[in-house]
Amino acid sequence: MKCPKCQSMETKVIDSRVIEDGQSIRRRRECEYCEHRFTTFERKWFTELVVIKKDGSKEMYDRQKLKKALLLAFAKREIDREQIENLINNLEAEWSIDKNEITSKEIGDDVLRALKKIDPVVYVRFASVYKSFDNLKDFKKFID
Ligand SMILES: [Zn+2]
Repeated sequence: MKCPKCQSMETKVIDSRVIEDGQSIRRRRECEYCEHRFTTFERKWFTELVVIKKDGSKEMYDRQKLKKALLLAFAKREIDREQIENLINNLEAEWSIDKNEITSKEIGDDVLRALKKIDPVVYVRFASVYKSFDNLKDFKKFID
């Protein structure tokens, strides 16, 4: 992020706040060169999130992939799509506050924690097979 005052590229984030139901984030930044402070509003910031998989490889976070997994987990259970969207929004907001990288295990654990509050049956489904974010195929087999 470029400093608007001196154009230096060396700026640091001093505060991050999620606003508008997790849809965007407000960041206070400070230029490391001239110490000018400024605020940025970032939308779709979660697309910057990098997922570290079990084997150590990295890929960009994929909201669609997570949504698919959740729709599978909720198969034949009472939930509307908006609730699933909200669930994902809240998780994304949490994940992006102070980091750019997350492990697939952290994603799995956080999803489980959220599911536990919503639907115990879905929680057990998710927990028994879908222990990491990597094996969507096995999970689908289990649900089928
Ligand atoms: Zn500056």
